[in-house]
Amino acid sequence: MQITQDTAVTLQYTLREVAANGQPGAVLDKGHTAYLHGGYEGIFPKVEAALTGKAVGERINLTLAVEEAFGARDESLARSIPKSEFPPGVKVGGHLRGTNDQGQPQSYRVLKIKGPVVLLDGNHPLAGKALQFEASVTKVRAALPVEIEHRHVHGEHGHQH
Ligand SMILES: [Zn+2]
Repeated sequence: MQITQDTAVTLQYTLREVAANGQPGAVLDKGHTAYLHGGYEGIFPKVEAALTGKAVGERINLTLAVEEAFGARDESLARSIPKSEFPPGVKVGGHLRGTNDQGQPQSYRVLKIKGPVVLLDGNHPLAGKALQFEASVTKVRAALPVEIEHRHVHGEHGHQH
């Protein structure tokens, strides 16, 4: 079965940083993921486009420019707050809920505690990075009506609920 509109696709993937010389760099993430094919924003659009028509066992290997991956960093989302305002129980690597400059809800990652100041970052950890996405197709099946309704794949490597 080929990957077409409204198929549930499982991939085994490796996501790497792209080094300064353009060569594949450190592995950032690897594993399996399942997504609903056909414009449901379950995976990077460039990856989805490359997978159209592929079948189990076929591979893709793509470089994603910053804007094709998680986008540029927004330095206005890099914040610091006094340690005295820091809620108890939140650790480095955890998240704080706050608002951005436009007053919209924003989640901030706790980067580090530096003396009396806590450094926060609301950017995606991979924002500002070009990425290399290598994957092989491990499963393709027709999506269930409920998956199309929910706009995501259920079950193994998919949405659990
Ligand atoms: Zn669902």
